[in-house]
Amino acid sequence: MNHYAITMPQLSDTMTEGVVVTWEKQAGDRVERGDIVATVETDKAIMDVEVFKAGYLAGPLAEVGATVAVGAALGYITDTAGDVAIAAGEVVEEQAQTEMIPHHAGTPIVMPQLSDTMTEGVVVTWEKQPGDVIKRGDIVATVETDKAIMDVEVFQEGFLSGPIADVGSVVEVGHPMGFIVDDASKANDTGVTISADHKVKDTHKVAPPSADKPAHLPIPKTAPAQVAATGAMPPVPRPQGRQASPYARKVAGQLGVNLAGLAGSGPSGVIVSADVARARPSMAEVAHALPQVDVPGQGRAMTSMEKAVSHAMTASLTLPTFNVTVNIDTAKLTAAAKANKVSVTVAIAKACSVAMAKFPRMNWAYQPVDKLVERANHDFGVAVMSNDGGLVVPILHGIEKKPLQALQSDWTGLVERARVRKLAPAEYSNPTFTISNMGMLGVSHFTAIPTPGISAILAIAANGPQGTPFTITGDHRVLNGADVALYLATLKQTIEAPEGWIQGSGVGGQGTAAEAVAGATATISAPVSPIPEGNWDVQVVVIGGGPGGEDCARDLADHGVKVMMVNNEPFPGGECLWRGCIPSKAWRAAADVIRNRAHDAEMGVDGTDAPKLNWEQVEKHRRWVQTSRGEMALKADRGMKIDVREGYGEFVDAHTLKITPVEGEPYQVTFGAAVIATGAPAFVPPIPGARENLASGGVVTSDTIWNLAAPPKKLGIVGGGVIGVEMAQIFRDFGTEVLMLERHARILAEIEDEIGKTLIAALEKEITVVTGAAINEVSGKPGAMKLRYANKEGVESVFDCDIVLMATGKRPDTGKLNLDKVGVELDGAAIRVDARCQTSAPHIYAVGDVIGGYMLAHTAATQGRVAADNLLGHASEYDQDKDCGVTFSRPQAGFVGLSVAQAKAKGIDAVEAKMPMSIDAKAMITGETEGMIKLVADKASGRIVGVHYLADHTDTLIGTGVMMVAGEMTLTQVAKAIFPHPTQTELFGELARRLLNRLRRTAKK
Ligand SMILES: Cc1cc2nc3c(=O)[nH]c(=O)nc-3n(C[C@H](O)[C@H](O)[C@H](O)COP(=O)(O)OP(=O)(O)OC[C@H]3O[C@@H](n4cnc5c(N)ncnc54)[C@H](O)[C@@H]3O)c2cc1C
Repeated sequence: MNHYAITMPQLSDTMTEGVVVTWEKQAGDRVERGDIVATVETDKAIMDVEVFKAGYLAGPLAEVGATVAVGAALGYITDTAGDVAIAAGEVVEEQAQTEMIPHHAGTPIVMPQLSDTMTEGVVVTWEKQPGDVIKRGDIVATVETDKAIMDVEVFQEGFLSGPIADVGSVVEVGHPMGFIVDDASKANDTGVTISADHKVKDTHKVAPPSADKPAHLPIPKTAPAQVAATGAMPPVPRPQGRQASPYARKVAGQLGVNLAGLAGSGPSGVIVSADVARARPSMAEVAHALPQVDVPGQGRAMTSMEKAVSHAMTASLTLPTFNVTVNIDTAKLTAAAKANKVSVTVAIAKACSVAMAKFPRMNWAYQPVDKLVERANHDFGVAVMSNDGGLVVPILHGIEKKPLQALQSDWTGLVERARVRKLAPAEYSNPTFTISNMGMLGVSHFTAIPTPGISAILAIAANGPQGTPFTITGDHRVLNGADVALYLATLKQTIEAPEGWIQGSGVGGQGTAAEAVAGATATISAPVSPIPEGNWDVQVVVIGGGPGGEDCARDLADHGVKVMMVNNEPFPGGECLWRGCIPSKAWRAAADVIRNRAHDAEMGVDGTDAPKLNWEQVEKHRRWVQTSRGEMALKADRGMKIDVREGYGEFVDAHTLKITPVEGEPYQVTFGAAVIATGAPAFVPPIPGARENLASGGVVTSDTIWNLAAPPKKLGIVGGGVIGVEMAQIFRDFGTEVLMLERHARILAEIEDEIGKTLIAALEKEITVVTGAAINEVSGKPGAMKLRYANKEGVESVFDCDIVLMATGKRPDTGKLNLDKVGVELDGAAIRVDARCQTSAPHIYAVGDVIGGYMLAHTAATQGRVAADNLLGHASEYDQDKDCGVTFSRPQAGFVGLSVAQAKAKGIDAVEAKMPMSIDAKAMITGETEGMIKLVADKASGRIVGVHYLADHTDTLIGTGVMMVAGEMTLTQVAKAIFPHPTQTELFGELARRLLNRLRRTAKK
C-alpha cells in the first residue's frame, strides 16, 4: 500500500502559507492525474491545487479554513480504494506532485498531450529564452501537433532554464522541452538526461546558451509512447496474482486489452500503461506493420500533421466500409440559410442532425474490442481548408440542441481558428460524425474515408444536373446499407423541405424578420394529434385546476380554444396554493423572521433576539394570502372565458367525461381532447398505526397539517425528503423539538451530493435525524403520540410527541379516473407520457405530479403549457434537463439543470467549479456565509448545463442560473457579463472565469 502527500504548493515567490478554501474531492474519491482536489487562498488569490498522481484521496484532510505552511501536507493520495484516511505513522512515500520530476534541474516543461492521437510534437518557436523571467500563464513556446499549432503555457513562476529542446526538434508527449528554476543564478547551468523510463539518468553541466542557440536537450530514442486514457470506460480488474498500476488498468479498459499474460516493465514486474500500449499497437505501429513498398529517392521526414494523417488513414484500412449516394436538391436549404443569416455549411450540419434524430446509429462508433459506443451528442467534424493548404476538421458541438444562430456563432469562431490551425484540443477531438464538402471545389463525385472513432463520413460534391451528390461512407461493423440508405432518404427530405424544421425559412422570399428569429430555434415538425374535429361540448377538457391544469387551460383559452377546467375544489390553485408551496412558505417566512434575528447582535443591533410567535396572526396571514390568490385566480380564469366547473371528473369513454359536483346530480360533457392534471396526494405507507391515526389528527400529512391550533411542542417526522426537511426547520424555528426518522441511509437523497451532505450537516445541528431507521408503530392520540422505531443497529426507542407528520412522499392516484376506458397507460402509479406530454391515447395529454418526475409547481405549469402548445399545433417538448427547484431550508438548496454526475450519465463531459459563500463580500456583510454555489459546464462547448446552490436567497439567485441554463449560455458569456458589486451575483462571473481558466489549463496539459 502506497501513500503520497499532497502538499501546500508554493504558488508565488512571497507565499509561505495558504488557507484551504474548498475541497473539490472528498476523502475516498477517485483522483486522476491533473485533477483539481482543492482550492487554497494565497497572499495573492484563490488558486486550484492540482495533483499529478492517480489514486484515492485520503485524510486526514486539512480543514477548510485551516492555514497550512508551504510544503506541509494538505491530504494524501493512496492507491487503495476504500481508504478514507491513512493511519497515524503510516509511511508516506513521496509528494504526490513530484512524481517523475527531476528536482535539481527545476520543474520540467513537458510536451503536452493535446489530442488523443498525439504522441509527439515539434517545437516551432521559443517565446522565451533561457534566463528569462517566467510568470504564471506565460506562453513559453509553440509546438506543432498532429492537428494544429498550439501555445505552451506554464503555471509556475521562475526562470526559463536549459537544456531546452531545439526549434524543429521532435519531443515525445510527457517529455521535458525545458525547465523552470526558481533562482536566476540556477538558470542554464545544470541539466539532465532523461532516460527511456522517464527517470533522471545523468546530471551534467551544460554550457549557457549563446544568444542565437539555446542549450540542446537530449531526446530519448526509445521512450514508450504515452497513451491517453479518455472516456468513461471503467478500469479493468487487477490481473490475478499480478500487479498493475491504476493508470494501466484504466488504459486497458479503454483499449480492451487483457492484462493476463502481459509482461510488466514497471518495478517488480508491475504492468504499467506503456506495457498496455505495446499490447495494442498504435496507429503508427499498425501503419508500419503493413507491407511497405520501396520507393526510390531520399524522402524527407513527414511533419507531425502529415504523419498523423498518414497513420490515421492507414488505421482506417481496418474499417470495413461501403458507400451510398443520393442526389439532393439543396436550393431551398440554401435560401433558408440565407434568410436566417447562417452559412449553408451550418444549415447542412443542422439538417444532418435533424435527420439523425431518427437514425441515431449513424452517430455511434465501433470501439475495440467488440463494443459499440452509443452517442446522443451530435458533435460533427466539418472539414475546413487551412491557410497553409492543409485540411483541418473543427467540431461543431451540441448540434442536436443548439439553435441555428448559436451554431453559426460557434462556427464563425471555429473557422477563424481552424484557418490558422489554432484550435484547442476540445475543438478537434472526438467528432461523432464528419462532413466534407468538396462541392465548392467543383468536384463532381467523391467518397471520404472515416477514421476510427466515427462510423460515417458524409462527402458532398458539386451540384450537377441531378442535384448535389451526398455520399456516405459507413463502417459496416456499426451500420448496414439499409441504415445509411434510410438515413440519406430522410436527409434528402429534411434538406428539400426545410420549412418543416426551419420556421421562417424565407423560401420564395416571403420570410419576415420575426420568422427569421423564430427560425433560429429550428423546431421539430408539427404534432401528430391536434384537437380532433367533432361536434363536442368543448374542444378541450382539462381535469384538475392546479398549476398544471390552470396554465394549460389559460394558454388554450388565450388562443381561442373552447376549454373547460374541471376541479374538485371551490377555487383553482391545487395542492400548490392550498396544501403546498404557498402555505408552507408563509410559515417559512414567519420562521425566517425569527431565525434572522439571531444575526442582529453580530451586526450591532441589540434587543431584537427574543422574538415571540403569534400563531393566530401567522395563520391569519397565511389564509389571507391563500384566499386572495384563490379568488384572483378564479376571477382571471373566468375573465379568460375558461368554463370552470367544480366537481370530480372521470372518463366514460374516449370523448365523454362524467362530472360529479359537490351538490347536485352528476352530468356528462363531450370533448375533442383532454388534459389530465389531477396531481398526486401525500402517500402514507402501511406502517402499523400510521393510516389508522389519520382520522384523529394524531398522524398528519402535508394534506392535513394545515389545521393546527398551535405548533406542536414535540414533532415526530417520518421521511427525510424535501417536504420533511422544510417542515422540520420551520417547526424548529417555532420552538418545536423535532425527531426525523428516515428509512434510507441518507436524507435528502434527491439533492446533489455535496450540496445535500452540507445541508444535512447544518440540519443535524438543529434537529435529531435517525437514518436507516425501521418505523415499527405509530400509536396514541393527538397531543400524546408514540413513535416506536429501531435505529440501524436494531435498538428500539419510543419518541413521545404531540403529532407525527408522515412526509413519506406523494403518489398519483388515478384509480377512479377510468383510464382503461380511454386507453391511457400507466408507468407504475404515474401516467406514461412522451416529451410532449402526450399519453398512449393520442388525443389525451397528462401533466404535472400525475406523470411523476419532478413533482414541482413550475414543472407542472411548464408541462401544462407544453400540452397546450401541442394541442394548438405547435410542436413543443418538456426538457427536464433545463428544469429547476428550490428547497426552502436554511440555507436554501437549489438546482438548475444537471449535476456533474447527471451530465456524465448523459454522455456530457462535464466539469464543475464551486465557490463557498464565505468568500462573498455581500454574504459576509449580512452574515449569510453558509453554503456554496456550483457551476457545471460541458467541457467541449463551454455551455453551462447546471447551477447548484446552497445559500441564503437561493430563491432569488436561482433566476440567474435558470437564464444561463435555459439560454444555453457559455462560460465565456457569463465570464464577460458585468455583475453588480456588492451582490452575491458576482460569484457567477467569478465561477465562470475560474472554470474557463481551469479548462484552458487542462486543455494545455
Ligand atoms: C408541503 C408542500 C410544499 C411544496 N412546496 C413546493 C415549492 O416550494 N415549490 C414547488 O414548485 N412545488 C412545491 N410543492 C409541490 C407542488 O405543490 C406540486 O408539485 C404542484 O401543486 C403540482 O401541480 P399539479 O397541477 O400537477 O397538481 P395539483 O396542484 O395537485 O392540482 C391537482 C388538482 O386536481 C384536482 N383533482 C384531482 N383529481 C381530480 C378529478 N378526478 N377531477 C377533478 N379535479 C381533480 C385536485 O383537487 C387539485 O386541485 C409542495 C408540495 C407540498 C405538499
